[in-house]
Amino acid sequence: MEDIATVFPAVKILRNEPLAHYTYTKTGGPADYLVFPTNVQETKSLLAYAKQEDLAVTVVGNASNLIVRDGGIRGLVMILTEMNQITSTGQTVTAEAGASLIKTTQVAQSHSLSGLEFAAGIPGSVGGALFMNAGAYGGEISEVALSAEVLTPEGEIRQLTNKELDFGYRHSSIQDYHDIVLSATFALTIGDGAAIQAKMDDLNARRAAKQPLDLPSCGSVFKRPVGHYTGQLIQEAGLQGLKWGGAQVSTKHAGFIVNIDHATATDYLDLIHHIQEVILKEDNVHLETEVRIIGEKPTTEK
Ligand SMILES: Cc1cc2nc3c(=O)[nH]c(=O)nc-3n(C[C@H](O)[C@H](O)[C@H](O)COP(=O)(O)OP(=O)(O)OC[C@H]3O[C@@H](n4cnc5c(N)ncnc54)[C@H](O)[C@@H]3O)c2cc1C
Repeated sequence: MEDIATVFPAVKILRNEPLAHYTYTKTGGPADYLVFPTNVQETKSLLAYAKQEDLAVTVVGNASNLIVRDGGIRGLVMILTEMNQITSTGQTVTAEAGASLIKTTQVAQSHSLSGLEFAAGIPGSVGGALFMNAGAYGGEISEVALSAEVLTPEGEIRQLTNKELDFGYRHSSIQDYHDIVLSATFALTIGDGAAIQAKMDDLNARRAAKQPLDLPSCGSVFKRPVGHYTGQLIQEAGLQGLKWGGAQVSTKHAGFIVNIDHATATDYLDLIHHIQEVILKEDNVHLETEVRIIGEKPTTEK
């Protein structure tokens, strides 16, 4: 195996790097190799190298919707946050996959372009937002995404239309085909800059009033089950405030689990499992996780 640092002298590569340094929950084991491509060509070459060396590839954006198990991730973890250019032409904004979604909403606002206000407080990257079809306050990425440039697992660059992205509730085709999002273009409408800003400020104030933004978390842990509100189910089951190791069901928003005292990913996962068991037993509702759970169990875990 040719050493990865020799093959890619210009790419930042960290070995055995704890992913807890990057995840919003501040938990998670190490990546064998954490690589930071800065452009499409590097991403493409890293994917080809991984294939040639038989290394698994995992893509990460802002790690705001991720639990990485404490055993970490084998192979190559590509974190795309260095690919973060955002441009605006006419009534569109195009952002590279690693660009902050919040920053993208600000660029849209600065060009008096309306449509992305709902995302003003979603702390993901553009790639993660497409992957998840992120949404809030009645808006969703699916409503504004015109197209995306992706790298297929075979190493081919393709343009996908909104239709091909096959959006659904917290779902897109990226999840099914394991493409890597490289960039996305949003189709927006001309609005009033001040009004757009006022809407973003209002939504952010509503978010800050309801969500425990002062503590590490991964946002809503569970998807909204049909006909129910997750937070309400958890509250009514008496689980709000429950602590598990260093993790706790948020006392501010029962749909969040916060890291209050050096939690591990195992604390998070055990607490999630416990909540799912209780809600299934009491309400006959299966709470499906919205947060993506990846990586390996620690070797000490049974
Ligand atoms: C405080 C807080 C509030 C939140 N509020 C909301 C909200 O209101 N609405 C909402 O929808 N979400 C919310 N989230 C969750 C999260 O911000 C979104 O799901 C976001 O879209 C995830 O983006 P990310 O870059 O952090 O993805 P990551 O967590 O890095 O990854 C999530 C998944 O996307 C995949 N992925 C990431 N980038 C790419 C790429 N370029 N190509 C292919 N796959 C990729 C990863 O492999 C992983 O499976 C919140 C989270 C927090 C912590």
